[in-house]
Amino acid sequence: MLNKKVAVITAVLIIVGLAGSYYLSNKSEPIGYGAPPYLDELDEAIPEYPFTDRYPDFSKWQRPEGPYKVGLQVGHWKSDELPDELERLGTSSGTRNGSIAEWEVNLRIAEETKTLLEKEGVVVDILPATVPKSYWADAFVAIHADGSEDYRTSGFKVAAPGRDLTHRSDELVQILEEEYEKVTNLPKDPNISRNMTGYYAFSWRRHEHAIHPMTTAVILETGFLTNPHEAKMLINDPSTPAKAIAQALVRYLNAHVVL
Ligand SMILES: [Zn+2]
Repeated sequence: MLNKKVAVITAVLIIVGLAGSYYLSNKSEPIGYGAPPYLDELDEAIPEYPFTDRYPDFSKWQRPEGPYKVGLQVGHWKSDELPDELERLGTSSGTRNGSIAEWEVNLRIAEETKTLLEKEGVVVDILPATVPKSYWADAFVAIHADGSEDYRTSGFKVAAPGRDLTHRSDELVQILEEEYEKVTNLPKDPNISRNMTGYYAFSWRRHEHAIHPMTTAVILETGFLTNPHEAKMLINDPSTPAKAIAQALVRYLNAHVVL
């Protein structure tokens, strides 16, 4: 009896210890101040489970008719206008370079990308930090710029949602990586964080203001605003990253979306 009790207490202590160290290790995970905000840890913690009350007829889903449609989200834009469901995740105004805020850089890149895509007949929505409810598009790109306390930190990175029912987001990641590297000559930063794969706008199971599950989505960190070389391109030459994003999207749409 006593041995059983000791065993139970020991087991409980081990579990508490493991949970505690897991919590602390996540707590102390370094998050650059330019990292995307509002990581939805709860959504990330729930195991794969594709259907929700919000999408009961999901299996019957068909692509709406019409031309290619793309959503470009401007990271941190109007982040003071978040609805309650997103507000509770905490807000972030993103990184900056002197007087220039990240959202301004993201917005100019998005606008240039939109111009290029419209020339190809693609319908483009420019979206703020708050995504419209159940937002659907053939492709969704969240545009961000990174920040680091070390000015030497450099590179761009692209990530897909941890949960992707379209099974196409990885393909879009690969195409965008190829085009971005080719057009911008920036190195690829391998440090994909949970802040990226668990990005709040991907979290359609928990938020109304998120992408529709059949939206192929990626998040792009266009480079480091805190790195002088990369800031020069991001601030003075937004048409270069825009060209890379537009080329990647046209390539992806032509290869993977049947109108
Ligand atoms: Zn950002």
